[in-house]
Amino acid sequence: MNKLTSPDMMKLKNIKSILKVIHEDNGIYRKKIAEKINLSSQTVTNIVKELLDKGIIKEESVRQMGQGRNPMSLRINYTDFYVIGVEVTVTEIKVVLTNLLGDLIKACQKQLAEDDDALNVIKQLIDEVKADFSGINRIQAVAISVTGVVNEKKGIIIEVKPLNWFNINLKKELEYLGIPILIRNDVNTIAHSENFNLREDTNFIVVKLDQGIGSSIVIDGHVMRSTNSVAGEFGHITVNYAPEVRKCKCGKYGCLTTLASIGALEERLDMNYERIKEEVKKGNTEVTRMIEEVSDIVAPPLANVVILLDLDRIVLTGKFINDFRDIVFEKLSKKIRENLTDWVAYKDLNIHENVNLAILSAKLLIDHYFENEEDLLFQID
Ligand SMILES: [Zn+2]
Repeated sequence: MNKLTSPDMMKLKNIKSILKVIHEDNGIYRKKIAEKINLSSQTVTNIVKELLDKGIIKEESVRQMGQGRNPMSLRINYTDFYVIGVEVTVTEIKVVLTNLLGDLIKACQKQLAEDDDALNVIKQLIDEVKADFSGINRIQAVAISVTGVVNEKKGIIIEVKPLNWFNINLKKELEYLGIPILIRNDVNTIAHSENFNLREDTNFIVVKLDQGIGSSIVIDGHVMRSTNSVAGEFGHITVNYAPEVRKCKCGKYGCLTTLASIGALEERLDMNYERIKEEVKKGNTEVTRMIEEVSDIVAPPLANVVILLDLDRIVLTGKFINDFRDIVFEKLSKKIRENLTDWVAYKDLNIHENVNLAILSAKLLIDHYFENEEDLLFQID
């Protein structure tokens, strides 16, 4: 983006505030906007006119009883602007094009083969999703969800071991697209989405039980973030279940992830995940018992987090939960309660199943952009 002069900045700031107000209160009138953000009604009128001319907002007349002119209500034109959502996992890349409501326009995906360069696959799929799209200059931003450690502020992927990604500046790699780029860790993406949907002051933890364990904590309406991007690493707290104290990939012994993840099950049972699922279907009691045991192992540390942070709820997600919810859910729910003191606010255990993080990322982008002052959506000149 070119450097902006300060009057330009001021104007963009006003545009953004007006868009935010309309986003939060769709159907609002000009007069109310001026009251809400303390701008002169002339400024509001001018900016609204510009936004209407560009098609960013729409207006319609609202019939009112009584005298005088009917006021015009203003709405964001969500369906004529678009975003790209990307989900990066260690096995697959998904790219979607949606409108600002998250409605799917086009989707592309690719399973990653051993010698694939994930970064090139992302670029190819983005090209593919944009190809022959008539609204190409109305694509506003890209949102990417990545399974791994992400510096969300800088858009740098700190580590995704299976992809051989270390300190990849993904934001920079995609700069050529010429639109704002938002990059988030996958579990944080879910946390932001839950946080937005709940809307009230609900404190919670999202735990992803998958190949490893990921987590994200939301307190007081904010997704926890730390300077080195690894806050809420629930998988690496020590649980130390004797006699099976295993060395973790992180270097220490007895991490939760060495006992209660898909990777751990594969190692302990010496089978791959597909085989584990088959054995459960066949009624293999040893395998089923080991999956049940995950509830016993995960419940006490989860309850500890609830007590420590006075959480209202726990949200579980990930392949392990998708596949084995019938085996673990009730037991886990009961075990957590048994480990809680009675003064905590904790209400329930929730499951967030089979999420399409590409679409979720795209949806979240909209709220992010109306929230965040630094980035500006709706640059269409
Ligand atoms: Zn560890």
